[in-house]
Amino acid sequence: MGELDPGFKYEVMREPGGEQLKMCFSCTGCTVSCPVSEIEPMYNPRRYIHQTLVGMRDEVLGDEHLWRCVQCHSCYEYCPQDVKVTELISVLRSLSEREAKKGRVRIKNPLYLFENAFAESVRRHGRVHESMVIAKHIWKTKGLKGLMEFMPLGKAMFFKGKISLFAKSISKRDQVQKIFEIVREGEH
Ligand code: SF4
Ligand code: SF4
Repeated sequence: MGELDPGFKYEVMREPGGEQLKMCFSCTGCTVSCPVSEIEPMYNPRRYIHQTLVGMRDEVLGDEHLWRCVQCHSCYEYCPQDVKVTELISVLRSLSEREAKKGRVRIKNPLYLFENAFAESVRRHGRVHESMVIAKHIWKTKGLKGLMEFMPLGKAMFFKGKISLFAKSISKRDQVQKIFEIVREGEH
């Protein structure tokens, strides 16, 4: 276990969506109502809340399973204390991502990697360039072997016009990039 950080809960509560953290009285309702916890016991929203409250910053922000939340809001509706668990999990993910950008955490979860490649493509071109997103995602999750295995399918998709090799950017992509800049500024 890493060192406890008593300031972690305040860091989370300062973020939009994290304000209600201290209202949790550990009834476990969020975990019981969570469809992801039901099939993946390593994903446990109540445990994240507890760990955050006691200051287990490194454990929470480095937890691969954080990215399994599907944002279904079942826990949100179920919580008798209005902790807004779904939003709280988003705050934890966003803090984890900030740590990853500083090189303090390495996130290997495929969903996170896919979302990142998707967002980067939209930032660059104002729209998704499918072949680049697919290639990046396979490279990061399966490496060269994965890319080689994907080649026959990729070729078939290309010849059927499903993906293109070159990105087509929208005419006003600078406006999309501005949105990304505003979001990034809001994170600091
Ligand atoms: S929003 Fe996330 S944590 Fe809440 S019930 Fe759905 S999957 Fe579970
Ligand atoms: S349902 Fe609400 S009060 Fe109960 S453990 Fe989850 S967050 Fe805490």
